[in-house]
Amino acid sequence: MRGQSQALVNTPEIELWPGGLLHARGNRDARAIARARRVLRRKRDGRYLAADLPEGLLPLVPHLRREPGIDAALGALGREPARARPGIDVVPTLPLHRLQMRLDRLGVDPEGYAERTGLALVAEPAWLASAGFDRFQRPLWLHVDAARAWRDLRGAALRDGIVLDSISGYRSHDYQLGIFERKLARGQAVDEILAVNAAPGYSEHHSGLALDIGTPGEPPAEESFESTPAFDWLATHAGGHGFAMSYPRDNPHGIVYEPWHWRFSC
Ligand SMILES: [Zn+2]
Repeated sequence: MRGQSQALVNTPEIELWPGGLLHARGNRDARAIARARRVLRRKRDGRYLAADLPEGLLPLVPHLRREPGIDAALGALGREPARARPGIDVVPTLPLHRLQMRLDRLGVDPEGYAERTGLALVAEPAWLASAGFDRFQRPLWLHVDAARAWRDLRGAALRDGIVLDSISGYRSHDYQLGIFERKLARGQAVDEILAVNAAPGYSEHHSGLALDIGTPGEPPAEESFESTPAFDWLATHAGGHGFAMSYPRDNPHGIVYEPWHWRFSC
């Protein structure tokens, strides 16, 4: 079905990307990825693991069979998720128990963190819809309902002479865990990292329902966004499209003011 092949299929440790969206450095990998129906990609560091070619699966790493999460990914390759009708069907989410285990190992106390911030664990959708490309020409993935709402929002803004672009949409738990692991390895303490980065699992970006919005010529994710005509337009019209600013000034979560971060509610 049109659109389904453009979905990002999500498993706990590996994403299944549609062919044609990814680029590889090596010649052999580049040729395989250009022809692939699906590319298996490790979530933590973005490494390409295998290409699903018409003639079969081509491993792009040694010891593919030993890759954590490979069974779940190969299982998902065999059965593409049923296409959800936007606004009607519920997109299933992945379980959270693995995340909780890994937070413990990182030294993040999930209960203390949740209590301190008032934030809840956010599950990842089992698949994400393509919402075009972000400002940096990276594929933008969102929950299917948010993807449709974002398209409508952008279109409505454009009719009023306002150009909106996206800085960042869906981000996985593993992506956020990877940031923590790299900073811990450089000798930072957990509390230091938590002052700058949301704990893995607690970002609204994990749901695919939130996105960071910008406008050309304005630096990404800066408070100065609030004095642009684009922000004025959003403040007036975004609510009518189902979007709300998650972190206004003095929000109860103790998160800094983020005039660029908007969340869609189904
Ligand atoms: Zn954000």
